[in-house]
This record gives sequence, C-alpha cells and structure tokens, in this order.
Amino acid sequence: MLLRRAASAIKAAKQRRHYRALVKRSAADPPNLEDLELETAPAPPKGDATALLRVRYSSLNYKDGLVLTGSRGVAKYPVVPGINLVGTVIQDAPFAPPKGSRVACVNGQLGQTNDGGYAEFCRVPSQDLTLLPDSLDDFAAAAVGTAGFTAMQCILHLERYGGLDDTPSTVLVTGAAGGVGSLAVQLLAARGHTVIASSSRAAEEEAYLMRLGASRVVGRLEAPSKPLDRVRFDYAVDCVGGDPLAHCLSRCGARGAVAACGNAASGDLRTTVFPFILRGVRLLGVDSVNPPAEERNAVWERLDRDLDRDLLEATTTTIPLADVPRVADDILEGRVRGRVVVDLA
Ligand code: NDP
Repeated sequence: MLLRRAASAIKAAKQRRHYRALVKRSAADPPNLEDLELETAPAPPKGDATALLRVRYSSLNYKDGLVLTGSRGVAKYPVVPGINLVGTVIQDAPFAPPKGSRVACVNGQLGQTNDGGYAEFCRVPSQDLTLLPDSLDDFAAAAVGTAGFTAMQCILHLERYGGLDDTPSTVLVTGAAGGVGSLAVQLLAARGHTVIASSSRAAEEEAYLMRLGASRVVGRLEAPSKPLDRVRFDYAVDCVGGDPLAHCLSRCGARGAVAACGNAASGDLRTTVFPFILRGVRLLGVDSVNPPAEERNAVWERLDRDLDRDLLEATTTTIPLADVPRVADDILEGRVRGRVVVDLA
C-alpha cells in the first residue's frame, strides 16, 4: 500500500516536474511560495547519500522563526526553511530506510544549510532519517518534531546524568507554553512528577498548562536576587536561557540538575559557581542537532511509549504551508501556544 502510494507520488511528480516550496532567497527577502523543479536523479551509491522524500508534514519551531525572518548566522540562503519533517521515502538511497518507509527527520541541518521541510519534496541525508514505528502516525510524529524530541532529550538527560528517577520529584519547566515547554510539562507529569510551569503568559495559559498536567503555574522568572536562594524544586527543564536559567540554578535543590536547551530569553548566562560547588547542582546541555544514534533511538522509543496522543493533539495547531510566514514573528515573540504542524498534503 505504502509502496503503491509512493510510486504514484513519484509518477505524479515526474508528470508535473515541479513542486511547491516556501523559499527564502536571502536574509532580507521575505519567504515566498515557489514552484521548484524536482530533481529525480538517483542518489550517489556511497558517500553523503540523500534519500528523496515526499513530505507529509513539517512543523514550526523557534529556529524556523529565526530562519524565516533572516536572523544572522542561522542559515545559508537561498534555502527552503523547515528544520524538521515527516514523510515517505520515494527513492532508495544507501543507508536510508527502503522506498515506501515512513520516516522523520528532526536532527541535522535541514532548513538551515540543507533545504528543509517546507516543501512537497525534500532530499534528506540518509543518516538523519528515523524510521517511524507503526504505533506513531505521521501527524503525531510531526506534532512531536524537533521540540518534542528536545523535550524528551532533556528528560533523558535528567534521568541519565542528573539522578531523576521514578520517585516523584518536583520539576520546573520554563517557557512552558511554547513547543518544547508544553511537551516537557506533559511528559514529566505523565511520569508522576509534580510540574511547576513557568510562563510569561501565566494568566492566559494557566488552564492549558494545568490540562497538560502542571500542578502549579507561575510567571516568567526574573534574575535571581542571590546566588543561592530558597530551594523550590528538585530539577528543571529550561527552554529560555538568560535570567530564568540563572534563577533555575539558584533555586534548584541539592544534587539536583537543570537541563538547558534554549535561548528564547537570551543566550547570556550570568550566574555564580555556588549552585555547583555548594549544592552539587548539575547543569546539563542539550543539543538536538547532532545526538549520537543510540541517544536518538532512545528518545524516539520513550516518546512512542510515554506520549498521550490525545493530549499531544490538544497541544497542536495545524496550518497550511501558505500560512507559515504569517506565524514566523509570532513564534519569536513567544505568542505561539504548544506546537504548530504544517500540512503539506
Ligand atoms: P517556542 O517559541 O514554541 O517556545 C519558546 C517559549 O519561550 C515561548 O513560547 C515563551 O513561553 C518563552 N519565551 C519567549 N520569549 C521569551 C523571553 N524573552 N523571556 C522568557 N521567556 C520567553 O520555541 P520552541 O519550543 O521551538 O523552542 C524553545 C527554545 O528551545 C528555543 O530557544 C529554541 O531555540 C530551543 N531549542 C533548542 C534545541 C536544541 O537542540 N538545544 C532544539 C529545539 C529548540 P512562555 O510564554 O510560556 O513564557
């Protein structure tokens, strides 16, 4: 069935020889919908092999907002943005899952130095593809995307290197109403932890965050008033950096850990060594671009096992490709709730 669908997709593509893509020609140009020519030459037999995919869904992430608005140092233009995608392999390539396979790509350089997921077709480096299990449908995988992958990576880091286990703990999540934050709140709550959700939109998003499983919602965190403040939680997932991350470190309990993955507030970190040397707090960096294969597989396995599909759907808004430029500023301004999936059917 999948093979038949893939064959008809490639036949249709050959007939049309063009496909729709959102293209950002330069940092200064606005992104535009264009018809691009489909290159169906077979992938080289070895080396940097790429698999040709029919894209089903992409999604909008903070980094996509940066690329779409032309932030410096994030992408090489011209580029088709879209740092992640879910689709079907329509052409065999070395080291890639076979033709007809359903795959996701949420790691690597898509949408930055390689053309990305805001297109009906995309060539993806074989080594960046993850074969999706039958239990995770295309929409759910896209709703997870880079944000959900990163949220689960933060949790696995806290477990592996920070001591978080099945004993119920109190965990703070910053930027909680955003993509990574929303997924972190629901995944931690589902494991039985008490989640404190910190959001700049605490008042308007309280009901949403409580529905995801938060026990308490607090506002945006300010710079700490002292290097070591009263302990408020055992662990933290920080999606925003800057003063809120410094705040997390000053209020994290002894032998606790903070997983840091984001810079939505700032790339700066003003702190002291005291949380580390007097409380043994661990600061764990999380990078979703180049995780080792073993870590990538562990993240997807846990997502497949732990994700509440209904809650995931409730966290997600779906938009057509043409609406992506409209939402780019919103994500950078912290106005997007949860996840935004881009439908490329
Ligand atoms: P979103 O925009 O969906 O979420 C970010 C959230 O941060 C916002 O919703 C808002 O939440 C909060 N926020 C925004 N601006 C500020 C500010 N100035 N001060 C304090 N809080 C702010 O983005 P994503 O979920 O896609 O990404 C979250 C972060 O994680 C980004 O910085 C992104 O670059 C990073 N990231 C890193 C990855 C990695 O590999 N390390 C992978 C994926 C993402 P609220 O309103 O609730 O406060």
